[in-house]
Amino acid sequence: MNTLEKFRELGISENILTSIKKKGFEAPSPIQAKIIPEIFNSTDDLIGQAQTGTGKTAAFGIPIIQLLSEERNKVKALILTPTRELCLQVAEELNTLKGKKKTKIIPVYGGQSIDLQIRRLQEGVDIVVGTPGRIIDHLKRKTLNLSHIEFLVLDEADEMLNMGFIEDIEYILKNTNSTKRTLLFSATMPKEIKQIAQKYMKNQRVVAVENKTLTTDLTDQIYFEVNEDDKFEALCRIRDIVPDFYGIVFCRTKVDVDNVANKLIDRGYSAEALHGDISQYQRERILKKFKNKQINILVATDVAARGIDISDLTHVINYSLPQDPESYVHRIGRTGRAGKEGTAITFVTPDEYRRLVYIMRIAKAKIKKGDLPKVEDIIETKKAKIIEEIKATAETVDYEKNRHIDELSKELLGQLTPEQIVKALLSMNYGDEFDESSYSEIRDTKSVNRKGKARLFVSMGKENNATPKSLADFIYEKTGVEQRLLREIKVFDKFSFVTVPYEEAEVILTYFKKNKRGKRPMVEIAKEKKN
Ligand code: ADP
Ligand code: MG
Repeated sequence: MNTLEKFRELGISENILTSIKKKGFEAPSPIQAKIIPEIFNSTDDLIGQAQTGTGKTAAFGIPIIQLLSEERNKVKALILTPTRELCLQVAEELNTLKGKKKTKIIPVYGGQSIDLQIRRLQEGVDIVVGTPGRIIDHLKRKTLNLSHIEFLVLDEADEMLNMGFIEDIEYILKNTNSTKRTLLFSATMPKEIKQIAQKYMKNQRVVAVENKTLTTDLTDQIYFEVNEDDKFEALCRIRDIVPDFYGIVFCRTKVDVDNVANKLIDRGYSAEALHGDISQYQRERILKKFKNKQINILVATDVAARGIDISDLTHVINYSLPQDPESYVHRIGRTGRAGKEGTAITFVTPDEYRRLVYIMRIAKAKIKKGDLPKVEDIIETKKAKIIEEIKATAETVDYEKNRHIDELSKELLGQLTPEQIVKALLSMNYGDEFDESSYSEIRDTKSVNRKGKARLFVSMGKENNATPKSLADFIYEKTGVEQRLLREIKVFDKFSFVTVPYEEAEVILTYFKKNKRGKRPMVEIAKEKKN
């Protein structure tokens, strides 16, 4: 069957089918197959949920372009995106989809000259793709009129939420007509998003692509247990065992990002750092280098990496654990995209193991324990790569054109044996590669109590009328962790202890960290007994 047929069946016009063909899409992605007919055939507001990299842009872009008329008399659709990069990407994707249609689509974001944007808006625009701040600027200057729009799209709604755009979005929504259709897209569905939907969308329906796991199947997920001090060495080994490594290394802070990137550069890798203190100009330059593979390691914070649309990463490395399960999903969503396989590697220190288990549970992710590459294995990989490179060169070099090389090799062969020559050339070119001492040792992580349980300290005791039963009830009521999972409850005068499995411990600790009464959480991990 013609591969475009599956797109045609969704009701897509011949014009857009031609663009789809040009883009090389073969079949609609699941979210596209589900939501495109819904947009065409109903008038409801819709919530589209599918993981990152599943083609949500085209899922709303195609029907919107097709449904809008071509008279350029007013802004007919507004698409809100969290970042400047996403804004540009979405505008670009829509422009490549519109085909012969005269729909005018422009990105409107902070950082670009507002006068230029005003001029463009005055010339007449059908679809505005914008970031919240700049859209509000235009609304206040009355250079953008959103009172006749047919569609409002909230793209990457969870990211907008993370970036604190709620009030901005509400402001923008208040400046739009009530007859529009609202479409909301998000990879995850935290309760705040459901609340926005409740408040601002009518007859809204959720169109979700069921994921047994939140994460993508194409991504192989592995964790390595390493001590904090050995993370860098572990990173280098991973990099060295993968000859065509192309990945993002995520760190928690700007300082970590700079440290790791600088150490990588010192060790001769082509890496760059990306974080909030990097100027917009630098950022664009770095991203361009990364896209062109002039550098193959990008070290970044979560915020800085938002909206980077690079789909063929071989690796995502969590140098530090992500803050929460949702950022784990976001981070690793950057590999295994568009049908390509990728590997997500997470470094876990012994102290962080509980948090990893929690992430696995909430993200429904299967993360297997891996063994770090051994120095011998890396050396073998390097040898194989060198053989491959030499063979490839031998097969492709045109000696006619390299007359001097030809002459030189004959001359050398007259003076030395082939073996002497090969050895000399190899040591000149690759001598450093086999220096085992450039790798430092990675210590085994101290096997901490891994019987799958954690002892918790609760700052409530007999003086607060606590009993084992009341304590268990209290924990259940607050966190939903059932009484049968609580063991060895010991109530003292001022405090108590309770033992729970790791996963539940994380649920309980997270709850009490978020709901502090005083300075300290009411439940904390008990200090380890030194015995
Ligand atoms: P999301 O918003 O869900 O994260 P995007 O819309 O950014 O995903 O799409 C990710 C990539 O997949 C883009 O490069 C896009 O062009 C591509 N893409 C979208 N739909 C298809 C499809 N049906 N087949 C192949 N590639 C697609
Ligand atoms: Mg998107």
